Amino acid sequence: MRKTISIGPDLQIGDGNFVVMAGPCAVESRELLNAAADAVAEAGAGLLRGGAFKPRTSPAAFQGLGAPGLALLAEASQRTGLGVVTEVLDPRDVDLVAQHAAVLQVGSRNMQNFALLREVGRQRLPVLLKRGAAATIDELLHAVDYILEGGNEAVILCERGVRSFDPSTRYLLDLAAVPVLQQRTALPVIVDPSHGTGNASYVAPMSKAAMAVGADGLLIEVHAQPDEALCDGQQALTPPRFAKLMAQLDQLAPLCCKRLSAPGRVVGRSGDTRNISFDDEVIAP
Ligand code: PEP
Ligand code: MN
Repeated sequence: MRKTISIGPDLQIGDGNFVVMAGPCAVESRELLNAAADAVAEAGAGLLRGGAFKPRTSPAAFQGLGAPGLALLAEASQRTGLGVVTEVLDPRDVDLVAQHAAVLQVGSRNMQNFALLREVGRQRLPVLLKRGAAATIDELLHAVDYILEGGNEAVILCERGVRSFDPSTRYLLDLAAVPVLQQRTALPVIVDPSHGTGNASYVAPMSKAAMAVGADGLLIEVHAQPDEALCDGQQALTPPRFAKLMAQLDQLAPLCCKRLSAPGRVVGRSGDTRNISFDDEVIAP
C-alpha cells in the first residue's frame, strides 16, 4: 500500500492522488507572482511553487527576495487558495519558512546538508526532498532517513535529473527512478521536468511520461513572461502552455489510475477529449 501524505487540511498526495505543483522558479514581484499563481490555480494546480531563497551557482546571480518573498507567497496563497511549496536553504531559516509554507522544499544542492535535513525533520510540515544531481538512489534514501529520524514522516521525493555527458538537455531526467523508488519506499515520488530538461519544449512530453510511469505528481515552472524571468526562463511554461498540459494530464490520468488533485477537490473535467490535442509543439528554444 502506497503512503498518502496530507498537505494542509484538504489536499492529499499519493496512492492515486496526483498533485501538480506549479509557479515561477523565483518570486520576483507581486505582479508577476500573482499572474503565475492565478494562472496555475485556474488550470487546476494543487500547490503554488516559488522560491524566496534561491540556491544559485554564482553569488552574483539573483538570490531571491528572501523574507519579503515569503510574504508575497503567503499573499498569493490567500488569493488562490493554493498552499505554497518553497525552498529553505539554511537550517536557521526553517522556522521562518515553515510559517509561510505548506511544504518545505529541500533542493538538490542540499540533499546531503545533514543539518538542514535534521532541522526539517523536526518540523510537522511535509518535506519535498529533491535528488542531488549526482546522487544515487541509495544516497537519496539515506537522506530521507535523516528527516524520518527527527520524527517527520511526511516526505515527498522528487526526481529532477542527474548530471550526464550530454548537453542536449540541462540534466538527464531519470524516469526509471520513479519505479525504483516506489519499489524501495512507500513515500510519494514526483518528477520535475523543468529542471530535468531545462527547456520548456520538453516539459509537456516528459510530464506525461512521468504520469504514465507512475509518478505521484509534478513540479513545473510557470512564468507569465518567461523572456523576462530573472532565473530559469528558458524552461518556464507560459500560462496557456501550462493550461494545455493540464488538460492533457486530466485526460491521461484515468488511464494511469490517477486523479488530478487540488485543494478540496478532484480537478477532473468532463472527460470530453474532443478539443484536446496530444501533440506538443517541440519548438526551437
Ligand atoms: C528549484 O526547484 O527551484 C530548484 C532550485 O531546483 P533544484 O534544487 O532541483 O535545482
Ligand atoms: Mn528553477
